[in-house]
Amino acid sequence: MGKALVAGGGIGGLTAALCFHHHGWSVEVCEKSAELGEVGAGIQISPNAMKVFEALGLGDALSNAGFRPEGIQMRMGESGMRLVNTALGEAAVKRWGSPYLHIHRADLIAVLQAALHERAPNKVRLGASLDTFRREGDHITAILTNGDAMTGDVLIGADGIHSVVREQMLGPDKPIFTGNVAWRSVVPIERLGSDAPDPVACAWMGRGKHAVTYLLRGGKLANLVAVVERDDWTKESWTEPGRRKDALRDFSGWHPIVTRLIEESDTLFRWALFDRAPLDRWVEDRVAIMGDAAHPMLPFMAQGAAMAIEDAWTLAAQVSSDGPTLDALKAYEKIRFNRASGIQANSRANAATFHKRTTLDRLITYGPMWLVDKIAPQVLKKRQDPLYGHDATA
Ligand code: FAD
Repeated sequence: MGKALVAGGGIGGLTAALCFHHHGWSVEVCEKSAELGEVGAGIQISPNAMKVFEALGLGDALSNAGFRPEGIQMRMGESGMRLVNTALGEAAVKRWGSPYLHIHRADLIAVLQAALHERAPNKVRLGASLDTFRREGDHITAILTNGDAMTGDVLIGADGIHSVVREQMLGPDKPIFTGNVAWRSVVPIERLGSDAPDPVACAWMGRGKHAVTYLLRGGKLANLVAVVERDDWTKESWTEPGRRKDALRDFSGWHPIVTRLIEESDTLFRWALFDRAPLDRWVEDRVAIMGDAAHPMLPFMAQGAAMAIEDAWTLAAQVSSDGPTLDALKAYEKIRFNRASGIQANSRANAATFHKRTTLDRLITYGPMWLVDKIAPQVLKKRQDPLYGHDATA
């Protein structure tokens, strides 16, 4: 077995390192930040991604750190009317083979970091930013901005939406601002009283906007992501605070579960949402891109990290099979391309579904959803089977 270099120590990069290690490879990760970590926000990990973590032996550690929602709901943002309520909890395990989990991003990174350190100690270089890479014989050398070099058999670009690996491979190309800005915050549940979110993942529909609420850390924290269509702010940063009064204005007249979360937030951060049209290719020679570097998507299906996690397994499994490296990388691209690109497109389409503006549009979109949920809820579950039932480790 060989050595995999991984550029980027986010959710995708750390999972890739663990997957390569699981398949018998040695690994080395370079992460440009001085420490591993994530922003103070939650993330939904659906059963398809949990299958990879379970195969890595991390299912229990993640479940212990996270929160298992009882269901997924869709509600109207202002009235709170419930459109759809799909059971999760044990029903998710029964139907899709693994649990649905909500977890604080910092807790997820901590579990991945600890597992990697235990299995492959000291293989993460921090404050180490990839600058460029070059082929040297049957190896690949990654050059860092400080002049250091790392040599391995393959280079995995898990360096996010502004990937330098993608840029060197495919040339400069800016991600596209989608016209959506996300507010997000995390609030201790005891501050919310009777307005605390139910123990479910809930998407609240509105005119040109939507919100998502869910619980973290055994139900002690509530997480809010609230997305508004606007074009006057395009900064992509998890740490850029916004003004509470602006968020309250955006969600004025909404259900108190959403507005109380905004009122009780110590800080509300704003993030301009970018994505990119599907790329022509993700691999070249001994190099592959994965996760947001390959297919950044709107968070409207909560699948960006899930796709990175699935990519990580498939990449490691293909590259560690017999045969030339380039063939293995191409097999990875072939296996993953349609799935990730389809979910990228569907995530974009969900913006239109969640943000219906006219009364007629709302009636013809949400009316049938409400009806199907009441008379044939199995239809809604069945629609999720290809997404949540997928097993990249099979
Ligand atoms: P990133 O998380 O961007 O990590 C890239 C890493 O590479 C970073 O650590 C960065 O510092 C490092 N890096 C960058 N350049 C270099 C370099 N040159 N050298 C070395 N290191 C470098 N997904 C879900 O599955 N479920 C959800 O519920 C969900 N909710 C979301 C909510 C919001 C509001 C948003 C914006 C996204 C959401 N996502 C969700 C998507 C998810 O956050 C991303 O898809 C996921 O984090 C991508 O992981 P990644 O490792 O590919 O990239």
